[in-house]
Amino acid sequence: MIRAFKCESCGILMYPKHSVCPSCNDRNIKRVEISDEGTLLTYTLLYALPEGFEEKPLPIGIAEFDGVRVTGQITRSDNLNIGMRVKAVYSKIREVNGKELFGYKFKPL
Ligand SMILES: [Zn+2]
Repeated sequence: MIRAFKCESCGILMYPKHSVCPSCNDRNIKRVEISDEGTLLTYTLLYALPEGFEEKPLPIGIAEFDGVRVTGQITRSDNLNIGMRVKAVYSKIREVNGKELFGYKFKPL
């Protein structure tokens, strides 16, 4: 499951969390779980990367999970297709000053 966020006033889902709802400006936002299987909407390959990324090119995509659009790295750069099913996996994103940073990556199914 992906830990997403829901506005208790208007009901929209979001990821990552906003301190104020982008739809109704309410601050009553609660954590919810949504499906970790979604659809890849678009992607690109990045060749000019800041320090801390090991993989080149770096595939980045936008995928939709239960109506929530999430931006993230993809676990491989070949054989990607818009509309393919992906699973969000929590894993290492990059390393900064020896510290590992984690987040969701999209694994093609
Ligand atoms: Zn709202």
